[in-house]
Amino acid sequence: MSKIEDSDMRRGRTTQHRCSFCGRGEEDVMILVSGMEGQICDQCTEKAQEIIDGEMRKAGVQPHAHGHDDDSPKSAKFNSPLQLIPPKQLKSFLDQFVIGQHDAKKVLSIAVYNHYKRLLQSKVQREDDIEIEKSNVLFVGPTGTGKTLMARSIAKLLNVPFTIVDATIFTEAGYVGEDVESILSRLLQVAEYDVEAAERGIVYIDEIDKISRKQDNPSITRDVSGEGVQQGMLKMLEGAEVMVPPQGGRKHPEQKMIKINTQNVLFICGGAFDGIERIIARRVNRTVIGFNDKNQKRVEKENMLQYLSHQDVKSFGLIPELVGRLPVLVHLDPLDQDTLRRILTEPRNALVKQYQKLFSLEGIQLEIMSEAIEFMAEKALEYKLGARGLRSLCEEILRDAMFDPQLTTGPDGETKLIITREYAEQQLAAQHGRLMAA
Ligand code: ADP
Repeated sequence: MSKIEDSDMRRGRTTQHRCSFCGRGEEDVMILVSGMEGQICDQCTEKAQEIIDGEMRKAGVQPHAHGHDDDSPKSAKFNSPLQLIPPKQLKSFLDQFVIGQHDAKKVLSIAVYNHYKRLLQSKVQREDDIEIEKSNVLFVGPTGTGKTLMARSIAKLLNVPFTIVDATIFTEAGYVGEDVESILSRLLQVAEYDVEAAERGIVYIDEIDKISRKQDNPSITRDVSGEGVQQGMLKMLEGAEVMVPPQGGRKHPEQKMIKINTQNVLFICGGAFDGIERIIARRVNRTVIGFNDKNQKRVEKENMLQYLSHQDVKSFGLIPELVGRLPVLVHLDPLDQDTLRRILTEPRNALVKQYQKLFSLEGIQLEIMSEAIEFMAEKALEYKLGARGLRSLCEEILRDAMFDPQLTTGPDGETKLIITREYAEQQLAAQHGRLMAA
C-alpha cells in the first residue's frame, strides 16, 4: 500500500481523485485538473512550468510570460518610473524628517541608492557576468529613535510600495500564527495588487530581535517562534519566487496564489536589541582596550552601539544565515535631550507644528515657549521612550487647553494661547494626579 493511501485510511477517508504526478488526493491540494487519463494538481503544474521554462532558457528561447506579468493590475499610484536619486540627495531629504542619526541616514542612503541602481541595471542587458548582490538593511537602536520613520520616509520619496510587519506575529510554517509569506501579501495589497510595483517595494520588518535564538548556542532545541522563523525568512530576503496568498493568512485556502519575485524587494529589518551594548562592550573591551576596570568604565559610558558589528548581532541570537542576508548594518543613537527638543519643533511634520495647525483652524495662535519645550524634552528623556513619548506628553500638557483654551490677546489683536514651562509642569502633574486617583 502506498504511503498516501495508508495515511488516508488512517484518517478514515477514501480518495477518489488524486494527482497522477505526486499522488496527493484532492483533499490535499488546492486544484486538481482532470485530463483524459489522469489528473494534475496545482503544485505539479507549477513545477512542470518551471521545468519547461528552464528547458526553454537552455535552448535559448525566452519563456512566455505567465502568471502575473501580463495580467496583474497596474497601480495608478505606483506607476511612475523609478528615479535613481544619489545618496547625498537622499540624505538631504531624510534630514527634513529625521533629526540627528547622521551616520544612519548616510549608510541607509547609500544602501538604498545601490539597491535601486542594481535594480535598474538588471533591467538592461548585462554584458558581463557581474551580478550585484542585494543589500538588505539591519537597523539596531533603541525604541522610538527613528528606525521606522527612516524606512517610511525613503519609501515615500521613491514612491514605492511600503509595508511594516512585526516579526513576532510569525511562526514556523505549520504552526498557529502567520506564515512569513504573508509579509508579501501585505506588500501586494499596498501595491494595489500590481505585482511589478510590489516587486520593487520596501518591507520593514520590525522587532526582528524578538525572534532571536534564546542563547548564542546553535545546539539549543528549535524554538517555534525564533530560529524556525528566521530560517523561514532566508529565501525571501535573499531573493526568490514566492507563492503568495493575495488576501494573506490561511483563512481563504481557495484563493489563487500569486507569484512574487523578491529579488528586488528591499528588506529593512529593525529592532532595539536590548542588552546588545553589553555584548559589544565585552567584545570591544577585550579586543580593543583590554580588561581593565578603569577602561571598561570609560567605554561603557560612551554609546556602545557605535562599535556594533555583525558578530554582536549573531551573539545576540540572529542566525548567521540571516545576518549574512542583512549586509548593511546601521545603528541608531539613543536620543539625547537636545535632539528630543529639536524633534518637537524642526521636522517638516513636527509635533509642535501639528498642534499649531490644529489651533489655527480655530483662529488661535499657539505659542509654546522654549522653556516649555525644554521641559517636554527633559520628561521624554526621563520616560526612556525615545521620541515616542513626546506625543503623549503634548497631549497631556495641551489637553485642558484643547478643551477650554485660556486665551490672551496679542498686541495686534490676535488670539493667542501661550504655554509656559510652569503651565506645562502643572498640567502634567495634574494629569498624573488624576491617573493616580483613578
Ligand atoms: P522606532 O525606532 O521604534 O521604529 P519610530 O521611527 O517609529 O521609532 O519613531 C517613533 C516616533 O518618534 C515617530 O512619530 C517619529 O516621527 C518620531 N521620531 C523618532 N525618532 C525621530 C528622529 N530621529 N527625528 C524625528 N522624529 C523622530
